Amino acid sequence: MDLMLKGKTALVTAASRGLGYAVAQTLAREGAHIALCARNAATIQEAARALARETGATVLPVVADVAQPADVRRLVDETITHFEHIDMLFINAGGPAPGHFADLTMEQWESGIQLTIQSTLRLAYAVVPLMRAQGGGSILANTSVTVRHPLDGLTISNALRTAVIGLVKTLSIELGPHNIRVNAIAPGWTRTERVNEILRARMEQNTSSLEEEAAKITTEVPLRRMADPVEFARAATFLLSPAASYITGVTLLVDGGMARAVL
Ligand code: NAD
Repeated sequence: MDLMLKGKTALVTAASRGLGYAVAQTLAREGAHIALCARNAATIQEAARALARETGATVLPVVADVAQPADVRRLVDETITHFEHIDMLFINAGGPAPGHFADLTMEQWESGIQLTIQSTLRLAYAVVPLMRAQGGGSILANTSVTVRHPLDGLTISNALRTAVIGLVKTLSIELGPHNIRVNAIAPGWTRTERVNEILRARMEQNTSSLEEEAAKITTEVPLRRMADPVEFARAATFLLSPAASYITGVTLLVDGGMARAVL
């Protein structure tokens, strides 16, 4: 199937590694040009070099923290200056602080709101006028399986990511007439660097092996394994691409069947 991505431009946030990088890589392999950001200059520049080397795509690295309003504005401005248009926007950020309700502070909730909700709003406010003016586009917000299956100890994620889903659905209705599709994607356990860090910490605590810790987690997953980031990235790339031209307002779980929810 041709995803019709040759010559298109994608802005992928929080992409020096993990799910963001995997999405940028899959889009670039399909022929898209990429702007990508992260907070650290050295890591985002290295990620951009690796991506350009592997795929031959034009890659623009931008140092930006998506929780900072001025950074989001500059990120979008630099992308437009460089590429003139943004056909696809993948909204991603680091995860909010873990913790149970009683242990979390209002400061942690506030930074979670900036990181998860305000970053999504600011990126949408910055990119939607451009997409309207150019006659269309596609937006995909990364969330989590927690939107359908709240996880113990991920209180902020459980609470805030559903707000993103509400926004995505509303935007899909308001922006459909302008040929802008808006969807969400909800990963389950996916073996990124961040997840490897979590597994290593558990391994040291329990004097077990990395794979034993992974196996404990995946007993709850019908497919009995974590996803490889590329499996998530393929689904995201399809939803972002013109090949998904009649899909808007959906939340696609990429969770190996983990969410115990009928709808
Ligand atoms: P990761 O730590 O491997 O990668 C995160 C990337 O985001 C890095 O490039 C980092 O530099 C960048 N980043 C973090 N905060 C940023 C900010 N404020 N501004 C700009 N860049 C920033 O994490 P990951 O596993 O790829 O997860 C990405 C997102 O998906 C997170 O929100 C995470 O909670 C969510 N998620 C991941 C999984 C999983 O199993 N990997 C499952 C569900 C949800």
